[in-house]
Amino acid sequence: MPDRVVPNAVCTFCGCVCDDIELTVEGDRITRAKNACVLGVAWFQNHPAGRHAPDARIGGEPASLDAAVEEAARILAGARYPLIFGLSNTTSEAQREAVRLADVTGACIDTTTSVCHGPTELALQAVGKPAATLGEVRNRADLIVYWGCNPAEGHPRHFTRYTLTPRGRFVPEGRKGRYMVLVDVRRTASARAADEFIQIRPGKDFELIAVLRALVRGRPVDVARAEATGVPLERARSLAERMKKARFGVIFFGMGISMTRGKQLNSAALLTLAADLNQYTRFLAMPLRGHGNVTGADTVLTWQTGYPFAVNFSRGYPRFGPGEFTAVDVLVRREADAALILASDPAANFPAPAREHLARIPTIVLDPKVNETSRIARVHITTAPYGISVGGTVYRMDEIPLPLRPALPSPYPPDEEVVRRIADRVLELTGRTGSTEAGGAVASRAAEAG
Ligand code: SF4
Repeated sequence: MPDRVVPNAVCTFCGCVCDDIELTVEGDRITRAKNACVLGVAWFQNHPAGRHAPDARIGGEPASLDAAVEEAARILAGARYPLIFGLSNTTSEAQREAVRLADVTGACIDTTTSVCHGPTELALQAVGKPAATLGEVRNRADLIVYWGCNPAEGHPRHFTRYTLTPRGRFVPEGRKGRYMVLVDVRRTASARAADEFIQIRPGKDFELIAVLRALVRGRPVDVARAEATGVPLERARSLAERMKKARFGVIFFGMGISMTRGKQLNSAALLTLAADLNQYTRFLAMPLRGHGNVTGADTVLTWQTGYPFAVNFSRGYPRFGPGEFTAVDVLVRREADAALILASDPAANFPAPAREHLARIPTIVLDPKVNETSRIARVHITTAPYGISVGGTVYRMDEIPLPLRPALPSPYPPDEEVVRRIADRVLELTGRTGSTEAGGAVASRAAEAG
């Protein structure tokens, strides 16, 4: 017999942040996650509630939480140029505390956005964003374009919850009332769900978007240059006409846009294409964000500092510097002399020179599991998994905040509490007079900097 059922739980594995999951809890495990996709089921079922690791490790040896907090604070208080990185797999409450820690330590704070949709954030600052919620997409969209992304494998319920199959208020026929186009460099699993697959040459996204913008606006197009994208001009013309005739269209775009040649120029071009289409109909463009609360990381950093990622507090006030204050760059240039990694695993995916520097400096990791970065870290602190054992807030990819419904107790503390304790101890060790509130120490450090 199940011990209990938790309705409307929130899956925080990907940016869909599905909030209709029904969890069955037996003993200290989640044994069933009704409505979750295969990724969501794995997420819920691989986090036991019980004690599975020491509270912390210092130098690879088991340690108490108090000792680990003390060691982490000592490292950060003595650092000249600390780096705080990660933040996308934790609550917005913990993200807010991480900004405060960056503030009181004069650190660089950066998130996984810098290695996924950082260029899109730059594009948003440059050209803005025609936006809507996923609820509006579900109820209104009759044309859905996915560009440079593979939701069938990365966001498995995107089609069924938000875009293709649901019956919407103004799309009562459901799938039959919608047309889906996939634009990508190769035929992925998502192509099976598409009405039309358009294969583009690698690195030609910006050019094809420019062609579509010209066609939408009725401007002349050079056939040879247009077809250098790998897409016949008539095919592009047909898509441009379909976009103009849609009642409500949306383009979801992924790292095939933001992390290929052109980067922020690609993202800006797609956002501008969507803006152009609003001369004819209602159209929007939305990045298909990955990790559960990466959108929250952007949002919290923006409302705390004015900038979404790559923020430096070394002068006592926030400065924005993609390329200068982004984690990979700070590590590759060997500038950081200490690091705190919050809910992320850069040692598993950063380039080798960045990984090597991370291994050279004293690093602190907060994570529910021992990961690759923990293995090279001076301090690892085991924290409770968000969404499963920790409540709080996460932001869906359309920037809608959702409250979590944790199902299991945990013997480990939440990230928010640990980061707050480290920041408080840094203030004690340094004698600074920072606020006890997240975001409140800027004035103190600014005054100190003169
Ligand atoms: Fe979780 Fe994403 Fe699957 Fe929804 S689509 S259940 S948020 S992994």
